[in-house]
Amino acid sequence: MKNLVGRAKENYREMKKEIKETYQRETSPAEGKENSEPVRVFYPVINYDNCIKCMVCVKLCPNQVFEIKNGFPVVANPMACDPDCQICGVKCPTRVISFVSKIRWG
Ligand code: SF4
Ligand code: SF4
Repeated sequence: MKNLVGRAKENYREMKKEIKETYQRETSPAEGKENSEPVRVFYPVINYDNCIKCMVCVKLCPNQVFEIKNGFPVVANPMACDPDCQICGVKCPTRVISFVSKIRWG
């Protein structure tokens, strides 16, 4: 039991460290890009393992982010995605759409 608690604390510390490092990396410009502007990058990612090819995401997207290729929806225009929308993720019947959200510099 003591071991379990120790390991949980260690995992928690590692997780906090990783979150802090990711935050610092994503909120500071990389070397050589100190004068660049931050750009928010947000786009959907599909886990094709459980995609049932219903095309709900394609039909609902107001910004034509998806295209159909070989019978599957693909994220063809990621930069057109609106972070305030997320309707495809909510309405996907198998919930296989997640989102990448990060800051890019320059
Ligand atoms: S979040 Fe909205 S804009 Fe972005 S891909 Fe999904 S439906 Fe399209
Ligand atoms: S809504 Fe979900 S299950 Fe349907 S095609 Fe899009 S990703 Fe696949």
